[in-house]
Amino acid sequence: MSRGRPKPEKVERIRVALLARDGGSCFYCRKPFTDETPATFDHYIPRAIWRTWRQRNLVLACEPCNHAKGDLLPWPVAALLLRNVRHSDVWQRACGLAA
Ligand SMILES: [Zn+2]
Repeated sequence: MSRGRPKPEKVERIRVALLARDGGSCFYCRKPFTDETPATFDHYIPRAIWRTWRQRNLVLACEPCNHAKGDLLPWPVAALLLRNVRHSDVWQRACGLAA
């Protein structure tokens, strides 16, 4: 199974489903999409980490927001990962908090 960009027909179905799910505005800045600022697909968890085109990992974003985010993890995901690391034995020992 290919994990690359789906066929154009499927991409269009995904775009329509995301517009219905999220409305016609950018996920990040909430500005409505226009001909000058069209919707682009953004992989919420970057493709470099999770190579999928599943809708649950896709949002529509304007191009400036999409480029600004790039391959960065969204803050809520990063915070969740850091929280789990902070409570790990390795982290506790590294910080001198555990014997
Ligand atoms: Zn935006």
